[in-house]
Amino acid sequence: MILGVLEHLEPKKVFKYFDEICKIPHGSYHCKAISDFCVQFAKERGLFVLQDEYYNVIIKKEASPSHAGKTPLILQGHLDMVCQKEQGCTIDLQKDGLKLQVDDDYISAEGTTLGGDDGIAIAYCLAILDDDLIEHPPLEVVFTTEEEVGMEGAAGLDTSILNGKHLINIDSEEEGILLSACAGGTTIKVEIPLEYEQRQEHMWEISISGLQGGHSGTEIDKNHGNAHKMMGEILSSVSNLTIHRLWGAKDQKDNAIPYECHCRIAVRDIKEFEKQLDILEKRWKEQYKESEPDFYIERKDLGIGTESFLTAKSKDALIIFLSKVNDGIYTMSQDIEGLVESSSNLGILTMDEEKAVFSFGVRSSVPSFKEEIAGKIEKLAKETGGIYIRKNDYPAWEYRENSMLREMFLKAYREIYRTDMKVEAIHAGLECGIFASKIDDIDIVSFGPDIFDIHTVQERMSIASVKRTWELLLKIIEEFP
Ligand SMILES: [Zn+2]
Repeated sequence: MILGVLEHLEPKKVFKYFDEICKIPHGSYHCKAISDFCVQFAKERGLFVLQDEYYNVIIKKEASPSHAGKTPLILQGHLDMVCQKEQGCTIDLQKDGLKLQVDDDYISAEGTTLGGDDGIAIAYCLAILDDDLIEHPPLEVVFTTEEEVGMEGAAGLDTSILNGKHLINIDSEEEGILLSACAGGTTIKVEIPLEYEQRQEHMWEISISGLQGGHSGTEIDKNHGNAHKMMGEILSSVSNLTIHRLWGAKDQKDNAIPYECHCRIAVRDIKEFEKQLDILEKRWKEQYKESEPDFYIERKDLGIGTESFLTAKSKDALIIFLSKVNDGIYTMSQDIEGLVESSSNLGILTMDEEKAVFSFGVRSSVPSFKEEIAGKIEKLAKETGGIYIRKNDYPAWEYRENSMLREMFLKAYREIYRTDMKVEAIHAGLECGIFASKIDDIDIVSFGPDIFDIHTVQERMSIASVKRTWELLLKIIEEFP
């Protein structure tokens, strides 16, 4: 076997398999090749293996002789990676392997994402399965697909073949942190039908720009302005106004906080409107002093012309919905300090000749709050004549009072590093939620080595951290009762 730049790195087998994986293109929705590779790997070693129609792979290995009779342990990671590349990079991420490079303590890929998320999980598992000297209980290794695009593999997986009641998910990116809970979520779309009339008016274009945006799960508590909601406040601040168009950024997503919003309107009293605009702008400059240093409002005079404007009824419906609908943090956790428990994010706003479309990412680690938020949006949609559509529900992974795995990790970490591992929860979805919903009373933890700037071309993984995380994983496997 020809090894590349990782050849001299320890642990040898882990990096050998990581190197192998990086040679096989494995972006989301292109997992067949890497899935087949894992199946072939298992067959060559005489291990039980199963591949399903999602290209998920389950490999089982019997306990080593000294651990015979112990209960099975599930190890889990995802096969797919986010494919991003630099402008001008000639690598075809659907056909070519990655160009790995080592710089000091970091592995990265030249011009592209590395896929340490979650290739390192696959590498750890293959290294364990390949080694007959490691002492371990019966192992059930689960590799899922399309985690990065909605966790479709895990959602479709038939877990009835798994006997384990303890699962280690290796898909966290911060060493020393043990994840023990995550949020569930749903996507909600509301369509409000619109009617227009032709009118001659003096039109203005108002833009809110320069906001930070960010991930609607992990950054919802960073005091970032939501451009759509801010526009809602502007439009509801004066009464004599008509709307021609209203729109968000080109690349808006329901799981991203919107960083800009635009509208074309006509107002009866421009002086009064500008006064209101100044008041709001001043308030926001104060409110977002630290978190939104680059935000600004633009006003453009488009002159007098004949255009289609919303009828008064449509305009009222639109403004009421936009200004009143829930957005941002809804509740904070009582159990875990600083954890956002539930939230919504009005991420998408579009408008055409027939309708305005609003799309929300709703998250909560408590299922009833998810329902409460969804219920409020639905009620307001009904009141404003809108159509309510809900899709892509994914379950929360709720914090367990008693977790043997968590105790084992905390103890082992303390023994090795003489310091405490931090137990945390995140306000975003993990596959753990799906496993928790499918397997009764399952005990789950999630951990992993330091990987920085995941999902970007700057992604890099710490070699030393991979080694320490490997040692911790082996200790847990060896001590698993
Ligand atoms: Zn991942």
